[in-house]
Amino acid sequence: MLEATQHAMELEGKYGAHNYKPMPVVLAKGSGVYVWDVEGKQYLDFLSAYSAVSQGHCHPRIIDAMIEQAQKLTLTSRAFYSDKLGECEKFLCEYFGYDKVLMMNSGVEGGETALKLTRKWAYKVKGIAPNKAKTVYASGNFWGRTLAAISSSTDPSSTDDYGPFLPGFEIIPYDDLEALENIFKSDPNIAGFMVEPIQGEAGVVVPREGYLKGVRDLCTKYNVLFIADEVQTGIGRTGKRLACDWENVKPDILVLGKALSGGTMPVSAAFADDEIMLTIAPGEHGSTYGGNPLACAVTMAALQVVNDENLADNAEVMGKLFRKRISDLQQKCDLISLVRGKGLLNAIVINDTEESATAMNLCYKMMDKGLLCKPTHGNKIRFAPPLVITEDQMNAACDIIEEVFLTT
Ligand code: PLP
Repeated sequence: MLEATQHAMELEGKYGAHNYKPMPVVLAKGSGVYVWDVEGKQYLDFLSAYSAVSQGHCHPRIIDAMIEQAQKLTLTSRAFYSDKLGECEKFLCEYFGYDKVLMMNSGVEGGETALKLTRKWAYKVKGIAPNKAKTVYASGNFWGRTLAAISSSTDPSSTDDYGPFLPGFEIIPYDDLEALENIFKSDPNIAGFMVEPIQGEAGVVVPREGYLKGVRDLCTKYNVLFIADEVQTGIGRTGKRLACDWENVKPDILVLGKALSGGTMPVSAAFADDEIMLTIAPGEHGSTYGGNPLACAVTMAALQVVNDENLADNAEVMGKLFRKRISDLQQKCDLISLVRGKGLLNAIVINDTEESATAMNLCYKMMDKGLLCKPTHGNKIRFAPPLVITEDQMNAACDIIEEVFLTT
């Protein structure tokens, strides 16, 4: 291993908490779909920071907006108005079709905001008795690392030794409308169902067609809020503006994060109409940095880029190319048990157990050949490049995948 790489890895190992186990590559530069390590080696980035860098690394328009705003005003706190927040809120509400938005920072804060809104709505509008409101989640969900998020998790690596957990959470299987209706029917204290339209961290699990429509209908029928966690699937990633758009459904609360800032800084948001959003009064929820002027400038630029460059359409076309090439490869390669996904959120399921090192070894080999990706849940490798990827770049990536899979 070269010196600069080893030095950076040793520093993280010595002084940083060991809460991640990164691939042994030290990145120093990025542009579009490419990143470069400290030794100058170029890679195609097929993780794009867990789908946050959808607009490509260091997109010039987003960086320009960031620099321009950074030279004027970066943070006011919400103790005062800023000339950017209202403008950005209007932009966001019109873009996604909601009355109101509440801006936060990380994706998990967006989820927490949705959960708190749901509880407020449960008591103030639905009329659930104090402290009795419950929210339902699907097994395999991932919405972050706070105690609320892991209180709804079914993944032992998220929950082990972190108890006791928050009460008021129920779990049902994913992609199971019957289970959803049963729990709604049996418990009048249920206020919300939070769900990913495609489960990202679980390994890009795509539900059956009609699932989101079914969720919408059941939530309406039982007066339960439908909360869509589109932190990973939103903003063009699956080939439409939102993954919910595939079934033309509008969630009661929409949570976005990651690509909202084009990978420049943490920006998340929860969207809802007035009946829900106005249940939170001044002083009842917020964040020092939430909706700061810098985040606002960057967010508007990041979303404009998605529109102007037709990134959702490109995701759809490039995703089809990816799945076609991998399906063809599957005919010649026993290692692939399945390729699945939508748009540019895809995974190859490896024909081996979750405990095996096969997927990780494949990722190491792809890294050597200039393609960065990482397994999720042992035997699934997620492939989620920036949405700006071109056909040539996609074919180059698929050539690497093919070569590695056929020689393993
Ligand atoms: N929701 C989903 C669907 C996610 O995939 C993630 C992160 O991967 C989150 C929420 C949490 O986002 P953050 O890591 O920014 O808190």
